[in-house]
Amino acid sequence: MSTTNTDVLVVGAGPTGLLLAGDLATAGIDVTLVERRPHGLGNMTRAFGVHARTLEQLDARGLADELLATGTTLTTARLFGRLDLDLTRLPTRFNHLLVTPQYEVERLLERRAVDAGVTFRYGTELRGLRQDAEGVTAELTDPEGTPLTLRARYLVGTDGHRSSVRTALGLPFPGHSVIRSIVLADVRLAEEPADVFSVNGSGDTFAFLAPFGDGWYRVMGWTRTRQVADSEPVDLDEIREIARKALGTDYGMHDPRWISRFHSDERQAPAYRVGRAFLAGDAAHVHSPAGGQGMNTGLQDAANLSWKLTAALRGTAPDPEALLDSYQSERHPVGAMVLRSSGAIVRLAMAHTPLTRATRSLAAHLVNAIPPASARAMGMLSGIDIAYAPAPGTGRPSGRRAPDARLREGRLYELLRQGEFVLIAPGGPAPALPSTAPVTAKHLIRATWTDPAKRTAVLVRPDGYVHWTSN
Ligand SMILES: Cc1cc2nc3c(=O)[nH]c(=O)nc-3n(C[C@H](O)[C@H](O)[C@H](O)COP(=O)(O)OP(=O)(O)OC[C@H]3O[C@@H](n4cnc5c(N)ncnc54)[C@H](O)[C@@H]3O)c2cc1C
Repeated sequence: MSTTNTDVLVVGAGPTGLLLAGDLATAGIDVTLVERRPHGLGNMTRAFGVHARTLEQLDARGLADELLATGTTLTTARLFGRLDLDLTRLPTRFNHLLVTPQYEVERLLERRAVDAGVTFRYGTELRGLRQDAEGVTAELTDPEGTPLTLRARYLVGTDGHRSSVRTALGLPFPGHSVIRSIVLADVRLAEEPADVFSVNGSGDTFAFLAPFGDGWYRVMGWTRTRQVADSEPVDLDEIREIARKALGTDYGMHDPRWISRFHSDERQAPAYRVGRAFLAGDAAHVHSPAGGQGMNTGLQDAANLSWKLTAALRGTAPDPEALLDSYQSERHPVGAMVLRSSGAIVRLAMAHTPLTRATRSLAAHLVNAIPPASARAMGMLSGIDIAYAPAPGTGRPSGRRAPDARLREGRLYELLRQGEFVLIAPGGPAPALPSTAPVTAKHLIRATWTDPAKRTAVLVRPDGYVHWTSN
């Protein structure tokens, strides 16, 4: 049996694994990405909504503008027929939701990972793993089914909701099924809907419609009166009927390019790290597609973990174990929050008792009527307001998202494309780095405020969060 060595073995070439592997290779780390699908066979298009914070992360990798050209942007999200979220108020250059198929996100991330030098092994499946103090040994099979082992210093399971890595680590995936028999199709419409992004329903039925911008629409529907197994066939008539009940019309749906029925679970792994192995994306958390959070959350997991693994491998972290543990302490609560919020949306959409329907009306009314509630809902849904606890020895705004800023050397998110920390300071001698900084001068990008009145120095992490400010 042959054994190969690598610094980081990433298992699963979905969006999470592709972003992670691309980041690591960009930083000069030796990465192998194994994927059990054969090369060229894409994942089913599931996600279609890319939120503002994810677009910022893609901007920090030079991919956002290209991705924007593949879809359409929506500035309002309408929930329950009456709750409107005005995304133009988000404080970012990406103050909208991008609707584009998941395969477009994967295509750009795969190209970046290939260009950065990731070693891809398609048709290769992880079967098991074991760890020791120095690394992880992965047991795999190649496209011919021949066993092989791969030795890595770290391993990351980005292998989706049925994660073999999670199973091999002995981690449970507690939770339950939240909604079943959701039907889904990509269709053409004879009539254009007035609400371009809409969730509407009576509690016994709901439907959701969003445009891809190229004439195709994603429609999703659910009805209490037809609750069957995923394996039951679904046709366009069933989806049309649900749309008519929920939206009052089926907009003349025709020519579906694909149709599917699925159920959705709410589950989260209790630990995202076991020794030298990590979980990210759907391998770590799954929830209902309401709110379009799954792929977005997985991509943010990857952005959070990649620079920490890089610092641990380069030896630039003062306390590498604490830094790697911070992946769990920062991202696990975000996963839990996404489970709660996507679960709340789906439960409110399914509300059918007088009390739960009144709760839905009240929630919609409050969010519409109270600007801070609406801003909070948008901030969380878009990921813009997600923040972490301050790093040890630093106070707020450490842990907060660093907004894009025009600097003498260019925009902050353009500078982040090098995948390194950015130290923004007034002109003149460079300030000393704090002892907590998991970076040395060799890997630091220095930038200068355009405004000479700004006297503060800010150290921005490679994932666009503030690590430290000088006062
Ligand atoms: C109907 C629907 C709509 C959705 N809409 C949205 C949306 O609008 N926005 C959003 O953010 N999310 C959405 N999601 C969720 C989103 O699709 C997932 O969260 C996302 O695909 C997770 O990405 P991932 O990379 O973590 O895992 P996956 O995309 O599942 O990728 C895992 C990869 O690992 C590979 N693999 C598995 N086991 C092994 C193994 N043992 N060895 C090697 N390779 C392996 C698989 O082949 C796969 O390619 C939706 C989901 C559904 C079902």
